[in-house]
Amino acid sequence: MADAGPAIPVLRPQLPSAERLLPYLRRIDDARIYSNWGPLSVELEGRLAERLRVPAGGFSSASSGTAALVGAILASAGRATPERPLALVPAFTFVATAAAVELCGYDPYLLDVDANSWMLDPGRVAGHPNLHQVGLVVPVAPFGRPVRQAAWIAFRDSAGIPVVIDGGASFDRLVDGGEELLGEIPVTLSFHATKCFATGEGGGVASTNTGLIRRTGQALNFGFHMTRDSRLPSTNGKMSEYHAAVGLAELDGWEKKHGAVREVAASYRRRLAEVGLAGRSVVTPEVSASYVLFSCRDAAEADHIVAGLASSGIDTRRWYGGGLHRQAHLSTVPRDDLSSTDRLAPTLIGLPLAPDLGEESVAYVAEALARSSR
Ligand SMILES: *Cc1c(COP(=O)(O)O)cnc(C)c1O
Repeated sequence: MADAGPAIPVLRPQLPSAERLLPYLRRIDDARIYSNWGPLSVELEGRLAERLRVPAGGFSSASSGTAALVGAILASAGRATPERPLALVPAFTFVATAAAVELCGYDPYLLDVDANSWMLDPGRVAGHPNLHQVGLVVPVAPFGRPVRQAAWIAFRDSAGIPVVIDGGASFDRLVDGGEELLGEIPVTLSFHATKCFATGEGGGVASTNTGLIRRTGQALNFGFHMTRDSRLPSTNGKMSEYHAAVGLAELDGWEKKHGAVREVAASYRRRLAEVGLAGRSVVTPEVSASYVLFSCRDAAEADHIVAGLASSGIDTRRWYGGGLHRQAHLSTVPRDDLSSTDRLAPTLIGLPLAPDLGEESVAYVAEALARSSR
């Protein structure tokens, strides 16, 4: 770190304080139920279903966003079969998407994303030459930009291939968004500490198909439902009551926290405009309020800016690395041409964000950006 200014981390999460957790922790002490859909998890699921405007029973909690993906995949597609070993996933996503399909026995096959939406294009997927070997498609909500369901429901019905949407960081966009974003296709969410609605570790699955949500819970609990007979391929991906306590307290304070991160995003937009960089910020509502992104012209400019900010003590992150195909473990998996991913991944830089990031810090980052993007 240089001594040119204060060290600003790329993300400084802030979850509910001990004081706000205490009433919920006392309820756990009294009930002496610590997991397996105790009263707090059930209450959290009910309140989240309401927030997301899915029917009661339309939301299942999970121990992480990755577990949520595994549960939704096992409940809707089951494990991979020899006839259909492939799962189509975008290369422009976080590693968890590929890790989850592998855990369910699928071989990931990487597709490029659309240059404007940053997502898989359902029309292009429908015409993919390997479709006869595909047992699952996992479109991703990049940086929490939500995926519209209609075209994927049409794809699923005509191709007969299950679809699970990795909603990742999209909680805030789904809460504020329209009806086209939630439906029969399960949407998984991560409540990791880095996401703006957070429980530390945690996640869940939302769908209007309550039978599918029930099976997701079953897949996340050893295949048990009512009886202790395992009836599905499964894992242990349940949310504990302690994490549900954090979720309930987070939900109590959600308006305030969401307002605070939105305020930081607005101040980035303002400050960047002041230094002549209007139009380079990508902030909520374009993406989740979990992220403030800066869009560079090319990888060379991005490297220059990252180095420039680092020398001012400002941390940045390319949240999806260089795309899944740049991860050592995934470097040899089959894939299409990935030129949009190759252009997007290195040029979208995550800037520092925290619910309490002050205006003067934002101004400091904006000035450093102005110096290094010249
Ligand atoms: C955060 C994230 C995940 C992983 O969630 P975990 O809760 O960390 O397991 C998966 N996909 C996307 C797109 C994410 O952003």
